[in-house]
Amino acid sequence: MPTTIIKDASIVVTMDNARRELKKTDIRIADGVIVEIGTNLIGDQLVGDQLVGDTLVDATGCVVTPGLVNTHHHLFQTMTRAVPGGQDALLFGWLQTLYPIWSRMGPEHMFVSAQVGLAELALSGCSMSSDHLYLYPNGSKLDDTIEAAKSIGLRFHATRGSMSIGESDGGLPPDHLVENEAQILEDSIRVIDTFHDPNEGAMVRVGLAPCSPFSVSRDLMRNSALLARDKGVMLHTHLAENDEDIAYSLEKFGCRPGQYAQDLGWVGEDVWHAHCVKLDTTEIDLFSRTGTGVAHCPCSNCRLGSGIAPVRQMRDAGVKVGLGVDGSASNDAGHMLSEARQALLLQRVQNGADAMSARETLEIATLGGAKVLGRHDCGSIEIGKRADIAIWDLNNIAAAGNWDPVAALVLTGPHNVRVLFVEGRAIVQDGHLVGNDMGQMIERHNRLAHGLAE
Ligand SMILES: [Zn+2]
Repeated sequence: MPTTIIKDASIVVTMDNARRELKKTDIRIADGVIVEIGTNLIGDQLVGDQLVGDTLVDATGCVVTPGLVNTHHHLFQTMTRAVPGGQDALLFGWLQTLYPIWSRMGPEHMFVSAQVGLAELALSGCSMSSDHLYLYPNGSKLDDTIEAAKSIGLRFHATRGSMSIGESDGGLPPDHLVENEAQILEDSIRVIDTFHDPNEGAMVRVGLAPCSPFSVSRDLMRNSALLARDKGVMLHTHLAENDEDIAYSLEKFGCRPGQYAQDLGWVGEDVWHAHCVKLDTTEIDLFSRTGTGVAHCPCSNCRLGSGIAPVRQMRDAGVKVGLGVDGSASNDAGHMLSEARQALLLQRVQNGADAMSARETLEIATLGGAKVLGRHDCGSIEIGKRADIAIWDLNNIAAAGNWDPVAALVLTGPHNVRVLFVEGRAIVQDGHLVGNDMGQMIERHNRLAHGLAE
């Protein structure tokens, strides 16, 4: 069987249990899996009586890490970056500016925006991303984004999002963007049965993800949880994002978001919540005890003025935390290393310069994200793990003069990846996407995006 050998990496950041960093190391990949880690690995393997050629990837002078993991995104929003009316609004006002534009999207918009969003992530070293698609205007389907992920080559956790409480029922979204709850559940079953792969090494998994407690009913939250458990898929939503969110919960549900989530079955190893900026000590304890995960989205939290998530406290309490770039309309970037840097900076603003190290941030961005998404087969460079590997060449102006290339990955930059492997396949080579014409993709994307203007 042909294998790939990553040769002579300057440092391999393994994210194994001992968090070892291996100098001058080679990694052998076969069949999508890491099969050997060592020095002076030899190519041209003899299999039976046949000499089979290996692909050698020279990583001299490079830092090698597990592929980064993005735990929260709304890829369709890539078409609505820097929209003037939403540039300076808080969450609720921001949503109300964008809903009318999103309502004009269709299947092609969903496909192309997901392609561009995932391409951007891949170039920043992200090998696995989740996506939260919660509106389906004009015949759009979750299928459109799954096709897009296949075309770029990322490992993809699509979530079947939903909104069912429109303006006339006291919700935030306009009535024509919400769906009937029976149809939501029916389509959820369809996409799970069609696309979800529970097996190790899965390239596509599906989760269920009502948009937020303020855009679906209590019944849909509960029924989604029941369906997810019946099907063995994960649950995802937005929770405790800002002060408006907490006030809404107290007024409408008579309790804080953590209590609401617990009452409806929305805590556990199979649940992860985005943002959690306003979790209090009791809620952090709840998440820790139940194994509930958090997608920390620092750039979006800054961009929308939501606040600083208590990541230090969460990590100290043993809560699983991953990073999310969030939708491109509220970031407006989609660069995983920038997101990691922002996470580090924010914790230091709140808790001091020793609050979070570059290495801990890198752990959250890789292994942390994989744990949040329930992927014990990904997130570290160890024998038997999936070959999702990022090779970083820091021989550039932004990292010039650094004394510690691993820390420099996060502290300097932002850096783009040189080579990115997903399931053993290189989807980025020499800083460029493999098999996709970036220029054509962007041109098509911008034509569609600008066509959304009234
Ligand atoms: Zn979000």
